[in-house]
Amino acid sequence: MTSTPQSDVDADTDGRFAASPSADTGERVLEGLGVSPGIAVGAVYRHDAEAVAVPEYRLPAGRVAAEKLRFSEAADRAGRQVAQLQVKARGLEGSAGEELGYLLDAYQQMLHGSRLIRGVLRRIEDERLNAEAAVQQEINDIARSFETMEDSYLAARAADIRDVGRRLLRNLTNTPCKPFSVLPRHAVILSDELTPADTALLDPRQVAAIATVFGGAQSHTAIMARSLGLPAVLGVAGLMKGARPGDTVIVDGGEGRIILHPRPATLAEYRKKRADYLKSRRALARLRDIPAVTRDGARVHLLANMELPSEVESVLASGAEGVGLLRSEFLFMNRDDLPGEDEQYAVLRALVERMGGRPVTIRTLDIGGDKLARCLGIHPGPNPSLGLRAVRLSLSRPELLEAQLSAILRASAHGNIRILVPMVATVEEMRAVRETMAACVRKLQRRGVPMADPPPPLGVMIEVPGAALGADALAWHADFFSIGTNDLTQYTLAIDRADETVAHLYNPLHPAVLRLIQFSAEAALRARIPVGLCGEMAGDPRFTALLLGLGIRDLSMSAINIPVVKQRVRTIDLVAATRRARVIMDQSDSARIEQLLESFNVGEG
Ligand code: PEP
Ligand code: MG
Repeated sequence: MTSTPQSDVDADTDGRFAASPSADTGERVLEGLGVSPGIAVGAVYRHDAEAVAVPEYRLPAGRVAAEKLRFSEAADRAGRQVAQLQVKARGLEGSAGEELGYLLDAYQQMLHGSRLIRGVLRRIEDERLNAEAAVQQEINDIARSFETMEDSYLAARAADIRDVGRRLLRNLTNTPCKPFSVLPRHAVILSDELTPADTALLDPRQVAAIATVFGGAQSHTAIMARSLGLPAVLGVAGLMKGARPGDTVIVDGGEGRIILHPRPATLAEYRKKRADYLKSRRALARLRDIPAVTRDGARVHLLANMELPSEVESVLASGAEGVGLLRSEFLFMNRDDLPGEDEQYAVLRALVERMGGRPVTIRTLDIGGDKLARCLGIHPGPNPSLGLRAVRLSLSRPELLEAQLSAILRASAHGNIRILVPMVATVEEMRAVRETMAACVRKLQRRGVPMADPPPPLGVMIEVPGAALGADALAWHADFFSIGTNDLTQYTLAIDRADETVAHLYNPLHPAVLRLIQFSAEAALRARIPVGLCGEMAGDPRFTALLLGLGIRDLSMSAINIPVVKQRVRTIDLVAATRRARVIMDQSDSARIEQLLESFNVGEG
């Protein structure tokens, strides 16, 4: 990996990412978080410019008041989104920030007590139009009146009105944007925000790279981009300003850099960088069939995290020994109906068969936080990361859990499956899942349905600080542990992993996080159950020696990182790494820990 989330964050310690326009040619260099390596040169595709399908109908008289309220709520939501953009704009230096600020102020005015808002409310009231159609008609009227103005500055404001209209419509229809149906060749998707579900729709054969204004390095959007092998830069302030559809743009996902309207010399430089990058990836690919063994002979298992079944070929090509984490959320994303047991079974069976007997760890549904699925109809709640998500959701909707466990159990007849439960905080949750699983096993046995005998092991994700501190007790209820450092870091340090404004504070080398990892690993070793680690930390070669030194031998990561971690494993002396890990665990300060690790990594330890 040429870049890691941490190194990108360290490069910009105040957490703000400034634009540096180049006056003469219009070349603009923007900085953000490089979250998925690789270099792309392509054509801008503005995700926000998509039209939203607008339903139109007459309201029964009794629904007018409720419709007005629905519209007002959507307008408030749009206002809050623009306010977030205003905060970003203030972080921009120079005239770019100032101009963007003026524009966003104007947007705010349009969203509060303006002619637009009054006009929409009047149409709902007088014409009994649904809110979407009322917005569309009002926007068309206002934009047309601007467009006919002689003054070119005012005429250009029509585009702003339409932009505000699209934002209102997206909030009303709950469709962030239309899917990526028609894309230019080598499209570089630019957007304020991409959800993990949006990202899952991207076809890497058509899309060259992605860049967004919002989003942190550990967000599921970032993880999805790595899985798809798409260069990605998130958290880029000022990204959307001045980027027109079709414009040439360079994305450097390793350095976290976007270059709009590059000069010919810049283009040539990045084409060369891209060729060098691809060459280094090809060299790493030669490690595929070589085992991950330390210099002193300790065997390490490198597995892949998977977001989508379409990744299976790249997982196999990476030399992964199996799937250490299958995020099953893909089964629930971008659809209006729930997947039934049979459908889930068919998908999982095909996947485990393709993995040909290699272990496949299937995690039960982890919807919530930054991942939502409209088919579940969940309201995100006041704090989505702390709400009804993951195992809590599964236990509150037993039919969901039963369908999923039954599908997994049936698929276990065709491969080597393990089941993993996300976001566990209590022993009771594990007990409840185990009881549900036992009931599913009995039901399938009564129906004579084949499945693995004995049934697959049931593991706990250690990703809540309470679970790490209670790891000794949880070990009694788990067949294995998988440490999820993405959430463990988020919850231990109270830093939203998807929020670019605090990304520079997100640090898995914080001694508190390391102690929780160590404690969980030791609890597993004491209870003689296997322990692995499947957070993004596993895929960063800077951390490999420390994790091995803490006793962890199974590392699961984005497939793209497997070769570089394997390369690192093969240079490590485990005895020395264990000694260094002990020294590190005596430290109380992350900067010192980073130094000790760095000096070990460069062979000065
Ligand atoms: C984690 O939290 O570390 C993890 C692997 O799960 P996810 O990233 O899907 O939340
Ligand atoms: Mg997690």
